[in-house]
Amino acid sequence: MYYGFDVGGTKIEFGAFNEKLERVATERVPTPGDDYDKLLDTLVGLIEKADREFGCEGLVGIGIPGMEDAEDGALLTSNVPAATGRTLRKDLEQRIGRKVAIDNDANCFALSEAWDEALQGEKSVLGLILGTGFGGGIVFDGQVFSGKNHVAGELGHTRMPIDAWFHLGEKAPLFDCGCKNKGCIDNYLSGRGFEQLYAHYYGEQRLKPLKSSSVMAKATRKPLSM
Ligand SMILES: [Zn+2]
Repeated sequence: MYYGFDVGGTKIEFGAFNEKLERVATERVPTPGDDYDKLLDTLVGLIEKADREFGCEGLVGIGIPGMEDAEDGALLTSNVPAATGRTLRKDLEQRIGRKVAIDNDANCFALSEAWDEALQGEKSVLGLILGTGFGGGIVFDGQVFSGKNHVAGELGHTRMPIDAWFHLGEKAPLFDCGCKNKGCIDNYLSGRGFEQLYAHYYGEQRLKPLKSSSVMAKATRKPLSM
């Protein structure tokens, strides 16, 4: 059996897969906000429950928005405060007595797509995710290519060609990014970006901030027929 965890800022999605990689169980639980022991207990609880259900010790893999420090394995993640600076892989391995694989969630997504039937013959695959932010992963020869600093696929922090907007006379906003740069794709082509852009162009931020889903609904609404 294979156990996969998608650990996000608000929820943990668990899936158990058989040898044919068919999903045979799934569960979704809230991510413990900033309590590391509770986060560990939650993961261990789901693993032990699945072990009992399937009568074996499944292999465990975790996708998380962040990366392990190459030196000491401490996690660098801003979306899961409970795990920030913690050696989640090592601590979990100690609790469950088996190896755990952990990687950046966008890399996991790209790897999953690259191994999908439609893309199996491709030498290189680029996976891009538009969620709260803008993430990405690169797969080369069936393996994640994460580069020297583990962020090769994180294209969200590439600067938008926003200067072209300025040249066109457009009053484009230059948003600050969490990475301390300005104008990163992450702040435009993402749920957060849509919200910021809508607030910028329609000035409703202070009165009534709109969620990205509402912005998209407004954008795709068909005009009334006359
Ligand atoms: Zn950035």
